[in-house]
Amino acid sequence: MSIPSAIAQALDRIERARQASGCSDRVALELAVKTRSPEECREAAQALSDLGQPILLGHNRVQEAKATVDAIREVPGARIHLIGPLQSNKINHALSCVDAIESIDSVALVEKIDSRATTELPVFIEVNVSGEDTKHGCSPADFSSIVEAVAAATHLKLAGLMTVGLNSPAEADVRRGYALLRELRDSAVQQLAIPATNLELSMGMSHDLEWAIAEGATIVRVGTAVFGPRRLVARG
Ligand SMILES: *Cc1c(COP(=O)(O)O)cnc(C)c1O
Repeated sequence: MSIPSAIAQALDRIERARQASGCSDRVALELAVKTRSPEECREAAQALSDLGQPILLGHNRVQEAKATVDAIREVPGARIHLIGPLQSNKINHALSCVDAIESIDSVALVEKIDSRATTELPVFIEVNVSGEDTKHGCSPADFSSIVEAVAAATHLKLAGLMTVGLNSPAEADVRRGYALLRELRDSAVQQLAIPATNLELSMGMSHDLEWAIAEGATIVRVGTAVFGPRRLVARG
């Protein structure tokens, strides 16, 4: 299937889930473009643009974001989010090519990014809702101190929360994690005295986006359902 038809199908799936849940007024499709070529990224961005959708692409690695940024920026309005872990030595590179960072998971990282940023940067706090050792993100217990650090930062603006859900076929277990992210969003809304609509909930992937939308997702991050199986890449 072509990338534009796969995107149209994913949007149908999202819209059906959104209507069934009655939770969110809008759910954006963020394309997870890891291992995709600059040409594929541009084609996908153009397809979102042609469909009148927000043009949102998520990269896991700063290096891949840098390698594709010029192609993606050929599509006016395209936005690039970092959705993978950010090492301190890559902060400057990240700031040069991404529009938002979804993987903020410590007060130390907030302070380091804030000291390097020169313009306003939207950030999402990534929470490990499943408690699995292999998952990135802060623990729910540390969440509110990171909210405070972002609020105190000069250049960072809290734009939402992000999580990679439990990888399990058990709907109730997966949804419990997504419900927890929503509850943390509600607590941040209280803490900051802002409207709930100011904070995105970035949760749900190809295999479970319906469950995430049922728990209030406003952004779902989809890779394989649009691009097919992941390519193997050399790590380094
Ligand atoms: C790859 C990835 C996704 C998308 O996963 P698929 O199963 O390919 O839809 C979403 N979020 C993150 C952080 C990812 O790394």
